[in-house]
Formats: sequence, structure tokens, C-alpha cells
Amino acid sequence: MSRVFNFSAGPATLPIEVLEQAQAELLDWNDSGMSVMEQSHRAKDFEKLAAESENDLRDLLKIPNNYKVLFVQGGGRGQFAMVPMNMLRNKKTADYMLTGVWSAAAAEEAKRYCQLGIVADSKSTHYTTIPERNAWHVNPDAAYFHYADNETMNGVEFPDAPEVGHVPLVSDMSSNMLSRPFDINKFALIYAGAQKNIGPAGLTIVIVREDYLGQALPITPTIFDYKIQADNGSLYQTPPTFAWYLSGLVFKWLKQRGGVEKIAEINQRKADKLYHCIDESGGFYTCSVDKAYRSRMNIIFNLCNESLDEKFVQEAKLNNLAQLKGHKLVGGMRASLYNALPEAGVNALVAFMNEFKRVNG
Ligand code: PMP
Repeated sequence: MSRVFNFSAGPATLPIEVLEQAQAELLDWNDSGMSVMEQSHRAKDFEKLAAESENDLRDLLKIPNNYKVLFVQGGGRGQFAMVPMNMLRNKKTADYMLTGVWSAAAAEEAKRYCQLGIVADSKSTHYTTIPERNAWHVNPDAAYFHYADNETMNGVEFPDAPEVGHVPLVSDMSSNMLSRPFDINKFALIYAGAQKNIGPAGLTIVIVREDYLGQALPITPTIFDYKIQADNGSLYQTPPTFAWYLSGLVFKWLKQRGGVEKIAEINQRKADKLYHCIDESGGFYTCSVDKAYRSRMNIIFNLCNESLDEKFVQEAKLNNLAQLKGHKLVGGMRASLYNALPEAGVNALVAFMNEFKRVNG
């Protein structure tokens, strides 16, 4: 069997150790004579798994006690709707910062529930930067301020949480949760679809300060009400048990490797190596993202000649470097360097890119 280095933006690569453990206990989990997929979510063993995975996530992210952690379904797009449903709290307007395709999509969905304040919009730059702080129009009366900490498609990442005064801060961290430390206290709510940096598709993590709960719009479907989920330990309806189990294994894997602080160092080194290769290629490879806001997770780049794109992708594949083609809306290439993508994968990619340039440059 040969595993490739998988640069997919999501669903994305998972740690080999986690997959091997899941494989080893697939038929008989916890001496139960059945797989975790075949257990009731009401079984004591599953409740223990749920509690343990939450505690591990709390340890990893240093989540304060006044925040609830929810393990829900519906992905990032589900949160685009659940955030306004739960966070408007009798207010009529919410602020949205548009720095890429995903934050723009979140705003589009929120329009169904409230009036939007567009704080700033970098579309005219093709979402290659984050507008200067002094050009933002933050409404102090907005119900919340929503932004995407890392734009998966456009490769733009906030270096720090934005400063928005007293307006509750809501962050889409679908593609960078657990990639580096965050001060959770700065946020009212953080959400992430698991399928990038956490685990398999099907699970969505929401971290929400508890005083925001219990004020959902009357139209909110019961399963989309954060308070109902919190009060039921995210077991109100049947959760995606296998995705939850695998994510729990990923949390343990990360803890064993020194946690978020340690992985952040490795992630920074991985991203630096690849950006260096691009920037030092004499224009053979280019990255149009503003250097101050370049993502450490999703690195987008172009070849100097678009007609080489297909050849690049095919030859990369022959070198066990998979899923490098950029999103169709952005074009070019994209290398996603999530936690589970080993540094050796970046080294192999850089070596391949240098060789490809030598032959085709
Ligand atoms: N937000 C971000 C930053 C994303 O990258 C994605 C998916 N790529 C989404 C939201 C939407 O997530 P989902 O497909 O889970 O609905």
C-alpha cells in the first residue's frame, strides 16, 4: 500500500496513526464486540467518548468554563444559517466582513434573517488581502460581527482576531481551528466544519459563550437551537457517531504531539518553506495574496504559464503528491497544509516544484 501526500482542502488528509487505530478497532471497539458505528449513541461507552473528546478539545484550545462546546451537523454552511438564527437576539442587523468566497457566502445566507452591515469587502482585489482596519465600518449596535479567520479558497488568513470593540465576535474557523492557539475569550462564537483540520466530514464544532444561548429566533428548527444542543450534550438527535469518534482520536493524536502550540510551530515552518519556494522561483510560481495575510493552511499559487497547469498536476500525482489543483473559482494550484499533512509532504512538494521549474522553466 502506498499513501500519497494529500493536499486536499477538504475532506482532507487524516493522521495515519488515527486511521490505523480506527482500522484496528473497527470490528471490536472497547471490547464491545461491535464497531463504534454500531453502538447506540445512548450507550455508556459512547457517552464516555463524547465527554472525553470534549475535554480533550477544551484542553487543546484552553476553552474557558463559560463556553459550551457543541458537536453538531450541517457543516460550515449550516452555521451560516444557525449563527443568525441564534445570535440576532432581537436585533435587526449583523456585521459581515467579506474577505473571500466563504465569508461572502455566509453573508448571503444571513440576508435571509437580518439586515447586513458590510464592514469591508476585498472583492475588488479578488480577495487577495484584508482591508485596512481604519477602512472598516463597524456598527456598534450590530448583533454580532462575522468573519472567516481563514479563507480556504482564497488563501487569506487573519494574523490575529479582529478588534471590534464590544460587538460579539463570530468566527468561521472551518479551515484553521486547532492549527494555532486562539484566545477564546475574545470570541462570542467560533465554528468549524470538521473535514479539514479536525476529522472526517459530517461533524461541525461550535464553541459558544453560554450567555448567548436561549435567544434563538422563534422560527429556528429545534435541532438548530444551540441551547437545545447544549442542554442535551449534543445528543438531542443521533449525532454522526463515527465522525465524532475519529475526531476524538485526532484530539488525542494532537495532544500526544505537544498540542496546538507545538503544531503551530510546525505549521508555520511548513508554510514558510512553501511560500519561500514560490517567492524564490523567479516568477515561475507566483502567489498573489498580500504577504501580511497569507494563509498558513491553504497556500494558493499560479504557474507562470497556465498551459502547464495540467502537466504540473499530473506529474505531481506521479510523485505521490495529490489534490493540488486549485478551486475552480480561483484557478491555479492550492496546497492545503493542515495539521495532519506531514512536514515531509511539504519537503517533497518543494523538491518536486523546484525540479518541475528546472525542466519547464
Ligand atoms: N467556511 C469555510 C471557511 C470553508 O472552507 C467551507 C468549506 N470549504 C465552508 C465554510 C462550508 O463548509 P461545508 O461544506 O461544511 O458546509
